[in-house]
Amino acid sequence: MQRATADLIGIKALSRDEITSQFAEVGLPAFRAKQVIQWLYQKGAHSYDEMTNLPLALREQLSESLPLHFPEIVRKQVSQDGTRKYLLRLGDGALVESVAMPTKTRLSACVSTQAGCPMRCQFCATGRNGYTRSLGCGEIVDQATVIAQDFGQRVTNVVLMGQGEPFLNYDASIEAMRIFNSKDGLGIGARHITVSTCGILPQIRRFAQEPEQFTLAVSLHSAVQETRDRIMPGVRSYPLERLHDSIASYAEATGRRPTYEYALMAGINDSDAELKALVAFTRRTLCHVNLIQLNEVKGSSYHPSTDERLNAFKIGLERAGVEVTVRESRGSDIDAACGQLKQKASRK
Ligand code: SF4
Repeated sequence: MQRATADLIGIKALSRDEITSQFAEVGLPAFRAKQVIQWLYQKGAHSYDEMTNLPLALREQLSESLPLHFPEIVRKQVSQDGTRKYLLRLGDGALVESVAMPTKTRLSACVSTQAGCPMRCQFCATGRNGYTRSLGCGEIVDQATVIAQDFGQRVTNVVLMGQGEPFLNYDASIEAMRIFNSKDGLGIGARHITVSTCGILPQIRRFAQEPEQFTLAVSLHSAVQETRDRIMPGVRSYPLERLHDSIASYAEATGRRPTYEYALMAGINDSDAELKALVAFTRRTLCHVNLIQLNEVKGSSYHPSTDERLNAFKIGLERAGVEVTVRESRGSDIDAACGQLKQKASRK
């Protein structure tokens, strides 16, 4: 898994502790590191030139030793429902997508943790486009900053659910979540920060030990092993039975209710047998199920289910006493499914 190193992408590869220790190594006091961190994340600076409380010589030195890149918006689509989707170019030219979903009271950011994705989920445009590299923690945070600056308001919720598998880029994803949460960062409540994984079990166990009240979502998409192996080949080595046990242990250790994401796909995972398996998998466990109809992706053989099937799943789960929400499919008039905008840009 290619890491984002400071040699490749500059200061956005470094955690806040790493910035502080690198400053200390060249004799710079800790308060200078704190000032830079506040400029990067609290104020969303685009360059060292903006950091006017740092001496000019230090700004020049930092530009040389730890370049600062802020993402460039290559393309932006605005949906009738207010959703905005961005294609961003990072410092080394890698492209990532981010989505902003505003409501009257909230501004949610869906951010990517990798450029491309190695997981190969068959229904996902990103999964079909291949993998470039993992993002640095600062590059994950910057996506929410781009959104906050574009809307002119603060981001209230973040989901690490864009391109990439966050738990294959664990350290950078956790550090980004901490920066989102920090008052020297975006100051977002931990419960409003969600990480979504396909089910990388060792990292779910690790995540259960993190002290913050972050939220966990798991992309389930089928509780039938054969179906899941087919549509999500990247997690074949983590069978459903073990996923079930890991989530139960997570819920017990943290007291928090994880969410299962289930994107309904016509003829793939929306039959009565699939519903029965989903009910058996989720009932009597501390969890919540989010049902959503798959976003249509041009050229894909995977299509959204009908409203009838969506309703049947909702009723079936409710009858079994499973907490369920139907998640609205936002931005359906733009290329809202993950990976579509990038696919389109690379065709041009
Ligand atoms: S659904 Fe998520 S994990 Fe799966 S290929 Fe797409 S981006 Fe990767």
